[in-house]
Amino acid sequence: MIPGLMQTTPLVITSILNFAESAHPRVEIVSRTVEGRIQRYDYAGLAARTRRLARALETLGVKSGDRVASLAWNTHRHLELFYAVPGLGAVLNTVNPRLFDEQILYVLEHAESGVLFYDRTFQPVVERLADRMTTVKTFVLMADEDAHDAGAVGALNYEALVAAETDAAFPWPFVDENAGAFLCYTSGTTGDPKGVLYSHRAVVLHGMAAGLSSAFGLTAFDVVMPCSSLYHATAWGLPFICPINGCKIVLPAEKMDGASLQELIAGEGVTFSGGVPTIWTMYLAHLDQTGGSVGTLKRIIIGGSAVPRAMAETFKRKHGVQVLQIWGMTETCPLGVVATPTPALAAAGEDHVDEVIWTRQGRLQFGIELKIVQEDGTEAPRDGETSGALMVRGPWTIQRYYRKDQDAADAEGWFDTGDIATLDADGFMRITDRAKDVIKTGGEWISSIDLENIAVACPGVKIAAVFGVPHPKWEERPLLVIEPHDGQAVTKEAVLAFLEPRIVKWWTPDDVLFDAVPLTATGKIDKKVLREKYRAHLSS
Ligand code: ADP
Repeated sequence: MIPGLMQTTPLVITSILNFAESAHPRVEIVSRTVEGRIQRYDYAGLAARTRRLARALETLGVKSGDRVASLAWNTHRHLELFYAVPGLGAVLNTVNPRLFDEQILYVLEHAESGVLFYDRTFQPVVERLADRMTTVKTFVLMADEDAHDAGAVGALNYEALVAAETDAAFPWPFVDENAGAFLCYTSGTTGDPKGVLYSHRAVVLHGMAAGLSSAFGLTAFDVVMPCSSLYHATAWGLPFICPINGCKIVLPAEKMDGASLQELIAGEGVTFSGGVPTIWTMYLAHLDQTGGSVGTLKRIIIGGSAVPRAMAETFKRKHGVQVLQIWGMTETCPLGVVATPTPALAAAGEDHVDEVIWTRQGRLQFGIELKIVQEDGTEAPRDGETSGALMVRGPWTIQRYYRKDQDAADAEGWFDTGDIATLDADGFMRITDRAKDVIKTGGEWISSIDLENIAVACPGVKIAAVFGVPHPKWEERPLLVIEPHDGQAVTKEAVLAFLEPRIVKWWTPDDVLFDAVPLTATGKIDKKVLREKYRAHLSS
């Protein structure tokens, strides 16, 4: 080989902030705070406060390689930690506050974080668990100074720490692009949460790729409101994708209800947002109740669970908003595929475009390879029909979970996602189920996602959950649990009559039940709880 003669500038996270500060310093960042006020500054302001915070972290003794934990919502302070901690070569462990106490403690202990930053909302959980935290020595409350409460843990105040330092030029230390930057744990619906340690390089490459026109297609004209949580897979990379593309950022704190989102969309001119389907169900219900308009909103990325077709259709036909479905996971930083149109689809007409992008999770993006492997270990044809285990690889795919001594990827780098999917010749991928949620009945498979997608379009239905329970004759049969919209009466007969013309007969759920649908810490239907609760429903 002849070595290339170009520069080997490391791909590190501070380079994104430095770029934003010099390329678009006056582009705004707006944040609701936990105290409830609206905080406004810009990329120059973010960079200045990040320098102060980095100095404060050094004063607290944080060094390269240390873990610093956060229990925090989508606010400007959390965003500052996203830059200051990795900038020092330390690792930000974003803990999901929706986990149970024991899981939160497990994550903090497993990550061995020495400092814990938390929003006031989490003061009770921090105080409940503090005695059992063996590595956290310093607590910092992320609150205004006049709203400070040191509590039982003797917390320091974030604003006081930042105010005590200068925002003069900061000599960021050299950080290797392969150094760990963020430690994100999966929600642990099966077993303990598992740590995924994102490197600087993975975060930067992911951030560059996700803004491309085949993916989110962001420009400097966009105003982006991330409703995916900063604590869950770095809010899908938006804290990096936005500064790379010069977008204004609007952070909603914990207020993801329809009215609060509507206030920010209207007040800040939001054009682009993203979040799990539950958030958009609430938002659409709010628009319905108030007769409100989406205003400037043009596009929404939705993922984490399958997007009900009815949701994408309502957004487009009623509100003129384009829904882009995305698929990804904590283990892929998280972006895998995005459902954007192509000229080939467009040539077949708008209905065809809608049909494809509303029923597929998305299409191949540069930087992440996909393949489907059948039960006999052979690769499935890319025919859009043959399903199998979805495998991924690429520079922002996991190699190994944190503190495990075996790789999670195979010798060729392929990581088994645990999802069952098909892939077609145009590169569109469709998830049919999570491997553990597929309903195996009489030797055939029923896709719980497909059935849920159809059932949720039935009038009055808010959430539809389909799962398999043991059946004496067929091994498993599907049950459908419905949570109706508030005040709406939905009957079993109406649901079955709605399904009948839309599904093959043997997919018909053996029973339709009305119950509250439990959600996991990442907003997905918690099928483990439902399977347990209704385990004996068809066999006793
Ligand atoms: P968790 O901690 O809940 O596992 P992840 O974000 O890592 O959180 O979950 C990733 C999983 O979410 C994927 O493997 C897939 O099963 C599911 N998922 C994500 N996006 C979609 C989508 N658009 N359609 C269907 N399932 C999805």
